[in-house]
Amino acid sequence: MRVKRDSGRTQVLDSIRNSGPIARIEIAEATGFSPATVTAITAEFLQAGLIVEMPLESPAPVEQKQGQARRGRPRVLLRLNGAAHVVAGLNVAHRSICVQLTDFAGSDIAEFEMPLAQPCMAADTLGHMILMAVAQSCDRAGIPIQSLSAIGVGIAGQINTETGFVHWSPSLKARNVALGPQLQAIAPCPVFIGNDANLVAKAEHLFGKAQGIDDFLVVTIEHGVGLGIVLGGRLYSGLRGCGAELGHIKVEFDGAPCQCGQRGCLEAYVGEYAILRAAQAENDAYDDVQQVFAAADAGDAAARKVLARARHMLATGIASLLNIFDPQLIILAGTRSTIAHLYDDALHKDITGMAVKVDAPLPPIEPHHWAGALWAKGAAAYAIEGVAQLTIRDLAQSPV
Ligand SMILES: [Zn+2]
Repeated sequence: MRVKRDSGRTQVLDSIRNSGPIARIEIAEATGFSPATVTAITAEFLQAGLIVEMPLESPAPVEQKQGQARRGRPRVLLRLNGAAHVVAGLNVAHRSICVQLTDFAGSDIAEFEMPLAQPCMAADTLGHMILMAVAQSCDRAGIPIQSLSAIGVGIAGQINTETGFVHWSPSLKARNVALGPQLQAIAPCPVFIGNDANLVAKAEHLFGKAQGIDDFLVVTIEHGVGLGIVLGGRLYSGLRGCGAELGHIKVEFDGAPCQCGQRGCLEAYVGEYAILRAAQAENDAYDDVQQVFAAADAGDAAARKVLARARHMLATGIASLLNIFDPQLIILAGTRSTIAHLYDDALHKDITGMAVKVDAPLPPIEPHHWAGALWAKGAAAYAIEGVAQLTIRDLAQSPV
C-alpha cells in the first residue's frame, strides 16, 4: 500500500529523524515553518507517541540583567520514539529471504535469513514464504507477530509501489501479479512493497554512504543489475514504477538472452547469472559464479575474458548514467566478491573514456559491500516511512 504524503508534518518528522535530538526552534529554522506551527505539529507527534522529549539539556547560560542573575529557559530536545513501533523489512533475494526487525528509530532488533528452495515461485507460494520468514524472525526475537506495525518488502523487478502491482519479477513465475494486495490479505499489518534497488538507495540515504547527499545513484549488482535514483532527496521510480531499469538497457543488438525475455540487456553480461553462463560456455565445469571468480584470480584466461567483458558492459552503463544525471555520487552496491571482481582501475578508465568530457573531475564512484540483512534494512526503512505516513494521515484533519 502507499499513503499520500502530508508534506508539512512529513517535513517536521524528517527533520527530527535526520537531525534529532533537535529543539523546536531548530526544526522551524530547518523547515521554514513558524515556531507556532512546529509547536502544534510536534504536540500531535508527542500525543501519537512518534516522538519523545529528551531529558533537559544543560540549562542555558545565565544571563545578566540589571545586575541580577537570571536563569535562561532550558532547551527541550525532541527525538524519535523508537519504542513507538516495531517493523519488519524483507529482501527477497535469489536463494533466500533476509528479514531485519527494527524499531521506529531504525535501530536493529534482530535479523534472520530463511533459505529458499527455488528462486522463482508462484505468487501465493512466495506470499506464504514471505509471511513464514516474518513469523520465524518474530519467533526468534520473542516478538508476537501481531505487534508488528508494518512489513516492508523489497523484490527485484518492476513494481508499482502505489498499488503493489508487480509487472515482472525474476522471483515470480507469472507476470502481472497483484502481489501487494495478495500479501495484504494474509498479513497482520500494513504491507509496503518496492523494488529492491530502490530500497537499497533508501538505506544508503538513511544509514549508508549517501547520508546528507540528495542527488545520487545506487547501482546494485548481484544475480541481476538494478538502479536506485535519488534526486532532490526523493526516490524517483517513474510513472508506473518501471523506471531505473539499468539492468535492461540494451548494450548489444540481438545480444545475450536476458532473464526478462529480451536480448542484449546490460545484466545479461554483468549479472552473476550472466557471468556464470558466459564462463560455462567456455568451460562447463563451473557450478557457481564464485568458481569463475576463483579461476580468474588464479589466472585462467577464459574466466578473465568473461569478467573483462562484464566490466566493459558495466562501464558502458555507468558512463551513460554519468552522461544523463551528472550526480553527486554513484554507489556500486552488491556482494563483496562480485564488486571486488568488477570494480577496479580498468573499470574507471573505461568509464572515463565514455563519459562526456569536461574540465572537471568525474563524480565519485564508490563500492559498498552490503550484507544481505542490510538490503533488508532498506525495506525496514520503507516500512518505517509507511507507518509514519499512516499515523500522519490519521492526524491530518487539517492541512498544515
Ligand atoms: Zn533484460
